Amino acid sequence: MALRFFNTYSREIEEFEPVDPTARPVRMYTCGPTVYSRAHIGNFRAYIFEDLLQRHLELRGYKVHRVMNITDVEDKTIRGAREASVPLQKFTEQFKDAFFEDARTLRIKRACASPAATDQRYVDRMIEMISALISKGLAYQADDKSVYFRINKFPDYGKLAHLDLTELQSTGRVKHDEYDKEHIGDFALWKAWDKADGDVNWDSPWGPGRPGWHIECSAMSMALLGDQIDIHCGGVDNIFPHHEAEIAQSEGVTGKKFVRYWLHCAHLLVDGQKMAKSLGNFYTVPDVLAKGYTGRELRYALLRVHYRVPLNFTWEGMNEARESLARIDEWLARLREIAKSGNLQHPTPSAQRRTTAFEDALDDDLNISAALGFLFESIRETNRAMDQNEMDSASASRWLDWWKRINTVLDLEAETDVAIPDDVVQLAQQRENARREKNWKRSDELREQISALGWDVRDTKHGPKLTRGAGSA
Ligand code: AMP
Ligand code: ZN
Repeated sequence: MALRFFNTYSREIEEFEPVDPTARPVRMYTCGPTVYSRAHIGNFRAYIFEDLLQRHLELRGYKVHRVMNITDVEDKTIRGAREASVPLQKFTEQFKDAFFEDARTLRIKRACASPAATDQRYVDRMIEMISALISKGLAYQADDKSVYFRINKFPDYGKLAHLDLTELQSTGRVKHDEYDKEHIGDFALWKAWDKADGDVNWDSPWGPGRPGWHIECSAMSMALLGDQIDIHCGGVDNIFPHHEAEIAQSEGVTGKKFVRYWLHCAHLLVDGQKMAKSLGNFYTVPDVLAKGYTGRELRYALLRVHYRVPLNFTWEGMNEARESLARIDEWLARLREIAKSGNLQHPTPSAQRRTTAFEDALDDDLNISAALGFLFESIRETNRAMDQNEMDSASASRWLDWWKRINTVLDLEAETDVAIPDDVVQLAQQRENARREKNWKRSDELREQISALGWDVRDTKHGPKLTRGAGSA
């Protein structure tokens, strides 16, 4: 069955047809964290949905090249660094590390690249793009010295959010403090330096300043994935203005369609309200771990509901996740026992049942609820067969093989202690030496090599720690 996704742009379920999948991997861009504080589990709902999407595409044989940016320069990171009286880089670093640690706890696969917006390479790219937009009449420098995108010159502006531009004035979605703009909806591409920015600024043809948030994603996406990408994701709050602006900027520069499929996940809620930093109704991953739950249980709790359906976070839901995983664990233990036993007495026809229903459900706009429904139905049936001593070892092995396949998507198996291979230990040692010599480039390369072998290296107070990487078998 072909894969189908709900495309926010068309508001329709569409068949997935990537640009030439035989010649190149699926190109996927996912908006990453703004590193001014620890991400909350609402943010992680979005990242888990993206992880599910990537893993299912891979299960279906696609190679996926995914980029997730790190927003390390915008109002909140600058304010945070100022209030903490530390340089921006130092301030954001701690939240970046915390983000990767939490993502690992939740078994989220690491993106192929995690570019930071402050990297000079990408700032140069942003400046190039803004210059191109100005020369095309799509952007202008205003009296306040900032550069804005001229939305009236981009006829498709508003198409993603299905927004009527004439209504923009009254939506209250744009701030009214930027009075130098031609249109209230024009958004900043380059923000002129302001004393509140302190020493955070870059030179540009328009004077010192810093990029706007939207251009950061357009530039990093273009630099790492090219002019046209297959899939772009985020939470629904990213649709407007962020993703709308990304389309205007990218297509404004290239004249080509930027993204084929826009996928957005609904929010994680608390008592019916969006979980958000600003509302103070949030939990972080460590908050949940401190209550005695595991990363695996939280992964399950955030994964189990269809991504377009709002999900209410409750501790009851966490307990249900724990119970569901216990059922899976017991089922696997029983199957393993029988598979080992070599018992060929009772071949059972139920073991031959169509097991593709799980994958078919995910093909259907990532219908995880239906896929898990099928898994638990299968568990019920096979448990019954095992109760009645009607399961032979070959059938048990087949079920275990099936589990292994679907678990490449779910990644929900209980932790087992695995010995760290020698080559991984050696690479980690070389990386430690490179770090001592402050050879960061080499150290990053070695991290990549370790990661390619299915391991993650984390620098702790007590030295480097190796853990099994997300997605490793
Ligand atoms: P931010 O760090 O605010 O840029 O958000 C990072 C990602 O988390 C974005 O894709 C947001 O759309 C997403 N997000 C923020 N809050 C929630 C929530 N309560 N539920 C699901 N996704 C969210
Ligand atoms: Zn973005």
